Amino acid sequence: MPVQKIPFYTLSLRELAETLVNDGFEKFRARQIFDGVYAKKIFNPREFPSIPSKLAEYLSERFDFEPAEIVGGRKSDDSTKKYLFKLSDGNFVECVLLEAPSADDGKIRKTLCVSTQVGCACGCRFCASAMRGFVRNLSACEIVAQALPFVKRTVENGKKEAKFEFENIVVMGMGEPLINYTNLMSALKVFNSAEKFAFGARRITVSTCGIADRLEKLPEDGFPYRLAISLHGATDEVRGKIMPINSRFPLARLLGAAEKFSKSCGRMITLEYILIKNVNDSFEQARELAKIAKRLHAHINLIPYNKVPALSWQRSDAGRRAAFARILDEAGASYTLRREKGSEIDAACGQLALKKSLGPQ
Ligand code: SAH
Repeated sequence: MPVQKIPFYTLSLRELAETLVNDGFEKFRARQIFDGVYAKKIFNPREFPSIPSKLAEYLSERFDFEPAEIVGGRKSDDSTKKYLFKLSDGNFVECVLLEAPSADDGKIRKTLCVSTQVGCACGCRFCASAMRGFVRNLSACEIVAQALPFVKRTVENGKKEAKFEFENIVVMGMGEPLINYTNLMSALKVFNSAEKFAFGARRITVSTCGIADRLEKLPEDGFPYRLAISLHGATDEVRGKIMPINSRFPLARLLGAAEKFSKSCGRMITLEYILIKNVNDSFEQARELAKIAKRLHAHINLIPYNKVPALSWQRSDAGRRAAFARILDEAGASYTLRREKGSEIDAACGQLALKKSLGPQ
């Protein structure tokens, strides 16, 4: 039976060095390998510079550097790219590079949107990912792997540079990140840790549909990332109709947890609000939403609903979206009215359905 390969990206430098020494290689190679992967962003050991071929061979056999294999990719334009990954058990997951306003300063930045589960158990009625139900959690390395194709190699002042194409990461792909919390946190540590990709914690946003019991514990965990909450309804009545999670964690509990998070972590929360025609786009909802945002000192992201083919929900029309935004404005709430992105390639939020047929095209 083939020996299971060791997932590479979650290994610390010390653990890698120990494994190398146990297997008869020099300890200093660990640092060379880390430099190859995390600084030079080369994810195939056979391409590392100054590594003897015997070591390269061993590394490829012993460690898993590619837990997800790219089987397809699509570009809608220069600003939106999507990759389809095949996981080792044959499941598929998608990841999108898009342009989105940064949680930091609202400026448009290249943003990587990653998935954390195959399918989703939360069952939001408007969401494509919910349609197949929950299949499984992604491992930490499968989450990390989604970022690996997005490396830009350039030569600057005669020096070779390898940088990620994105400046922000949003955990807003398929799945509910706070339900796959342990793997999520190990994956984000790979991005954030100084000995790995050293990607700033404030450039990473985790989005949740409102798993309040997990949210309540984030402050004591020292959760260093930004938080977005998919609100989509400003009263229990409206939210409860479209998000089943609201019956388990009603708004009072969710907002209590959110308030505790923003107070103790001192970080502004983003409230995601998709505008669905005649469902959550009434002026009364706008007024309630403004109240919530002001109480939490949160920023609202108003997102046009992206039509999901098998579902009957419609996007609120442009006039209604503008009128809704005007109410937020008059109430003194902070918001961004987003225009849709990537819907041409089914890559917009919520459209990350498992479509095998999407393969190379
Ligand atoms: N489970 C997490 C992250 C995944 S969904 C969460 O709920 O936050 C990422 C965002 O896309 C959420 O705000 C989700 O509600 C939204 N979304 C889902 N379906 C959508 C659709 N069809 N159009 C626009 N946004 C959608």
